[in-house]
Parts: sequence; structure tokens; C-alpha cells
Amino acid sequence: MIIIKTPAEIEKLREGGKRLATVLAKTAALVVPGISALELDMFAQEEIKKLGDTPAFLGYKAPGHRIAYPAALCVSVNAEVVHGIPTAKTILKEGDIVSLDLGIKHEGLFTDHAVTVAVGTLSKERATMLQVTREAMYRGIQAIVPGARVGDIGHAIESYVKKEGKYGIVRSFAGHGVGRAIHEDPFVPNFGRKNTGEKLVPGMVIAIEPMLTLGTEDVIEGRDGYTMKTEDGSAAAHFEHTVLITETGYEILTEV
Ligand code: MG
Repeated sequence: MIIIKTPAEIEKLREGGKRLATVLAKTAALVVPGISALELDMFAQEEIKKLGDTPAFLGYKAPGHRIAYPAALCVSVNAEVVHGIPTAKTILKEGDIVSLDLGIKHEGLFTDHAVTVAVGTLSKERATMLQVTREAMYRGIQAIVPGARVGDIGHAIESYVKKEGKYGIVRSFAGHGVGRAIHEDPFVPNFGRKNTGEKLVPGMVIAIEPMLTLGTEDVIEGRDGYTMKTEDGSAAAHFEHTVLITETGYEILTEV
């Protein structure tokens, strides 16, 4: 069921989104060769605590998982696509790309946001994929015009990415409704046909999050039960914003 947020809820989501964007930007700024994924997670947790908010992923038991997610931040390096569990053993190296995905609960309402960051200097191929993934997210967001449907978002992302080069578009994960819970209806795939799927209605809040790879679109689960990696070991990038549907289009909530 798609939940239309009340004006009071939207106010809290706006504030939560700003806080989340601030924490994630500060965390991303710490990324340098030699830092561990665990250090990034500890920093993000501390910042969220200082604000009096709650990390959304810590202790979250995703459907079909044996264990609850043990961290606040998802840190997915290179071939890891999403849901990388941050550990002290994961040390970032020059040339790596790292997706940082974070959710918070502010006054009972959830927002969700991710960026992929370069560690030092990247190969041209990786740097371009980062730009294309980020732009794909914005193309998806810009497809939200009055009367648009979920399929218009996927279509905008897919058609832009196909034009840019040979990237895999991960299909088994997608954007989603967000707000009263971290994952709500509708499912917002990163591919699709124009004018199909649920209608986007003012007051809906959705996360748009394309995931691209330099190879396959297929992903496999790592041994920790959470980390999703590309099946062929190719590098992946991921960007995500939480977006409010408005009368005239959209408002990005996870921006400062
Ligand atoms: Mg998400």
C-alpha cells in the first residue's frame, strides 16, 4: 500500500533529510586511502547520535535474512554493489570506489541516501561510471512531473544509461517508498516503460537509487549474508536520494 504523507510528516522528513545529507557528506569527506570501513561507520553513528536521531539500518532485519544488519552505514567497495557490512579489515585503497548508504529515523520518520565516492584518483572508466550513475539518478528524479508514473522514472534511467555506454543496470534491487518505514511501496525499478506502473501522487515519498556496473547486471550474496556483489567481479556504483512528490513535480529531501 502506498502511503501519502501528511504535511506534518513532510516537515519532519524535510528536516531528517537535511540532517542525513549533512552526516553522509561529512562521512564521505573522510574517505582517503588507508581508512577502514568500520571507522566510517563509527563516525556516522556518532554524528547521528549527536543529533539525537537513530540510524535506520542498525539492527534492521531485512526480509529473508538470518541476522539483523549490524551497522548504521553500508560500505560497498568496488565489486560490492550494496549492503556491504563495514569491518576493520576493509581498508580503502587508492583507486577504489566506495558506495556509502545511510538511513536515519528523525522524529519517527525515515529518509535514505547514498553516494559513491572515489578513493584517491580513479581510472577513467571508473570515474565515468560514477558520473553516469549520479546523472542517471537525476534523470530518474527529473522524470517526476505531474501525472508521471513509476515506469517513467525507470525509463528515464535506463534510456539515459544505455545511451552512455555498456553498463549493467542491476535489476534485483530498486528504489522504494520510504517514510514511515525504511522500505515501503511502491517498488521503483531502474528500468521500465513510459506511462506504466503506479501513478506518482503529491505527498508520496520515494527513494530513487540506480546501481550500475562495468559488467554484468547479475549480483550474488556474499558469505556474510548481506553484502551483494557483481557476479563477474566488475566494479559497481550507486547513488540515492529520497524525493517528495509535489503538485508541480518533486523536491529532493536528502540535500543540505
Ligand atoms: Mg534505499
